[in-house]
Amino acid sequence: MSDALQTEAVELLQRLIRFNTVNPPGAERDAQEFLAGVLSAAGFECELLGRTPERPNLVARLAGDAPGPTLCLLSHVDTVLATASDWSHDPWSGDIADGCVWGRGALDMKSQTAAEVAAACSLARGSWRPARGALLVVVLADEETGGSEGAQWLTATHPDKVRCDYLVNEGGGGILEYGERRLYCLGCAEKGVFRFALHTGGAAAHASMPRLGDNALLKLAPLLAALGSRQPSYDLTAEARAFLEAVGALAPGAGDEDVAEALERVRATDPRLVPLVEPMLGISLAPTRAFASEKINVIPAEARLAVDCRVPPGLGEAEALARIEEVVGTDGYRLEWTEQVIGNRSPIDSPMSEFIRGWIADQDPSASVVPTVLPGFTDSRTFRDAFPECVAYGFFPHRVTTRFDNDHLMHGADERIDVRDLAFATTFFRDLCEAMLG
Ligand SMILES: [Zn+2]
Repeated sequence: MSDALQTEAVELLQRLIRFNTVNPPGAERDAQEFLAGVLSAAGFECELLGRTPERPNLVARLAGDAPGPTLCLLSHVDTVLATASDWSHDPWSGDIADGCVWGRGALDMKSQTAAEVAAACSLARGSWRPARGALLVVVLADEETGGSEGAQWLTATHPDKVRCDYLVNEGGGGILEYGERRLYCLGCAEKGVFRFALHTGGAAAHASMPRLGDNALLKLAPLLAALGSRQPSYDLTAEARAFLEAVGALAPGAGDEDVAEALERVRATDPRLVPLVEPMLGISLAPTRAFASEKINVIPAEARLAVDCRVPPGLGEAEALARIEEVVGTDGYRLEWTEQVIGNRSPIDSPMSEFIRGWIADQDPSASVVPTVLPGFTDSRTFRDAFPECVAYGFFPHRVTTRFDNDHLMHGADERIDVRDLAFATTFFRDLCEAMLG
């Protein structure tokens, strides 16, 4: 990659980090106006569209001469908060030290914004135009608190401005080391969220005479014990199967009953992989909050346990309920769903994933690309919902550092990106535009 392109991506990232866009409140306008200026100067048509003036989304378009597919390079410019005293560099400094750019958003995800904008601008300034279709660069506000000002608002209010056939976003591209192998994660799918509460009942009484009452809190104990000692059987989806087959942990055509053994093979290869791989393999149940009496001296007549439940794409309430009952049984509680969002996915095989596999094969011949399921979710779910034909992947390829180096830095202290990784991703986005749009 040319030095100029690398320098541009690094400088863009430094500038972006220096805009404090901690959400809440976000206050993304200054960053978005800066990016609109950069993209307009390179030849993009830019619009700032938002529900509130301080929080616009940026839509930049470079149209081709003939009809064809629209490729969207997506990112968000808001960040989570940072506690400066925990950091070795000021989180809004954009300092370069030890070969890295430091600051909140250096991984999640101002780096991808910088790489996408630098790649798109270098093409546009060189008078490149899509031979067919259009290139969109969309920078969203408000991802970190759910997207009601960002992806959700934009796709609902201006669907024609952001409709696309291919989309690249966060949620993939990191490297897993697997024995001697290097695996690039291609984010093809995201799990759904099926949160629920387990309610127990009893009778109130003064806590000084406990036997006069019937303590609902104690009835949570067997439910908690069950959640701590058992876990649901696996529910293997196509993406997770493809992952296990690609790493050789599961034989092609093996049944779901072989998944536990496959996970043991993963553990034997590298135990660090288990917490990353296991959530892909089925429904997860994590009790996170318990509520009972408001008063220390009152035996609670009601108690409630909140459970964060994540469900693989394609599965819904019925499958989740079956797995919950498998773990906690069916008696002694009342279940209340508190949130239901079905998982989302794009096909593992598409012209874009074919390009990605070929590109990695050229750049990093000893590595391979594996499909992954994100246990959380990104704005990709909103775009997949709004535009069912759109093929969306999480892919921001790193070359030097791995997920073992980086995963804990996102939303953590000392977030930073290796300059060589930023350069690698910028080259990827540039090559992707040329390949998909001619
Ligand atoms: Zn993010």
